[in-house]
Amino acid sequence: MINVTKTYLPPLNEFQGYVEGIWERNQLTNNGPLVKELEEKLKEFLGVKHCLFVSNGTIAIQIALKILNVTKEVITTPFSYCATSHSIVWENCTPVFADISPIDFCIDPKKVEALITPNTQAILATHVYGNPCAVDELAQIAQKHNIKLIYDAAHCFGVQVNGTSIFNYGDISTCSFHSTKVFHTTEGGAIFTDNDDYAYLIDRYRSFGHMGDNYLTIGINGKNSEFHAAMGLCVLPKVSDIIVARKSIFEIYDRLLNWDKLIKPTVTLPTVSNYAYYPVFLKSEEILLQVREALESKNIFPRRYFYPSLSTLKFLVETSNCPISDDYSPRALALPLYYDLAHSDVELICQIINRTI
Ligand SMILES: *Cc1c(COP(=O)(O)O)cnc(C)c1O
Repeated sequence: MINVTKTYLPPLNEFQGYVEGIWERNQLTNNGPLVKELEEKLKEFLGVKHCLFVSNGTIAIQIALKILNVTKEVITTPFSYCATSHSIVWENCTPVFADISPIDFCIDPKKVEALITPNTQAILATHVYGNPCAVDELAQIAQKHNIKLIYDAAHCFGVQVNGTSIFNYGDISTCSFHSTKVFHTTEGGAIFTDNDDYAYLIDRYRSFGHMGDNYLTIGINGKNSEFHAAMGLCVLPKVSDIIVARKSIFEIYDRLLNWDKLIKPTVTLPTVSNYAYYPVFLKSEEILLQVREALESKNIFPRRYFYPSLSTLKFLVETSNCPISDDYSPRALALPLYYDLAHSDVELICQIINRTI
C-alpha cells in the first residue's frame, strides 16, 4: 500500500537511548533538558533567533494570535488546512478570506489590501505546500496599515527564502511537527520570532501563564514533553537526507507527468525547497475523482489537499468571494511523496495518471 505520506521513524535504539535518560532523570515534561536541547539545535539548524517548542502546530497559531492581542478581524487564506482558520475562530476572532493567486496558490496581496477595514488586526497567511507567499508585499501591507503579520509555516521546515529561513518572516511564524510533516516530533510544533518580548510572552503563555510561583496572565497548556523532544532529536540529524530523497522523487514527477493536462504551483521567489508535497491540479473535479479511483484500485492513496476551500465552510463564514480558491480546491490532489518511496512506484503513479487524464 502506498499512502500520500509515510512517517520517518529513526532506528529504535536511538530513541531508546534518549528514553533511558528520561528514566534516569525522572523528568517527563515541563521544559526539561531534551526540550531545551531540541530548541537549541533547531535554532542552530534553521538559523532563527527564538524557537519555542509547543504541543502542536494549531496551538502555535492560537498562542501567536493571543500574544499579539488579536481579537477582531484576521485576513487569511481559504486555501490551507482547516487549522489555519479554525485557530482564528477558536480565538474568537473573525476570519476574512482573501482569495489566492493561481500562480503560487498563496494569498494574493492585492486581495488582502482590498479587504482591510478599521477592524483588521492581523494577516494570517499560509506558505502553501511550503512555497513562500509574496513575503515582501505582505510585509509592506502590514506595515502600512499597522497590523500584525503571522505566517502559518506548518509546511516549511528547512525552507529558505532570499537566503534566510522562511521562519524569519512575519512578526511570528509557526510550524507543525506532526508525524505527516517533513520534520516531526510525533505531535508537536514551534513558534518562531526574532522579537524578545514576544518570545518571553509565548514562553509564559504556553505554560499556563506561570511566572515562578505566581502567574503573569492567563495561559494555556501548550508545552511539549521529553518524549516528543526525544523523537525530534532523533529525526533532526536525518532531515537533510530525507529532503534529498524527497527531491529525487519530486524530480521524477516533474519529468514524467503530462503537463499538457495538469497544473502545478510555480515558486516565484528564490527558494530552497523542502519538497514537502507534490500537488497537482486536474482539469476538473470529475477527472480528479477518476484519477483517484484509478490509483486506489492499485492500492495507491493520494490525498485531496487542500479540499474543501475553507471559504465554503458555513461554520467559518456566511459568504466570501474567493472564486480562485473555490475553483482550484476541488481539483487539487497531493501525490505520494516520502523518503523511501520507490522510484519505480513513482513511475507507475505517473503512468496511471497520464493514462487517466
Ligand atoms: C499540519 C498543519 C497545521 C496543523 O498542525 P498540527 O501540528 O497538526 O496541529 C496547520 N496548518 C497547516 C497548513 C498544516 O498543514
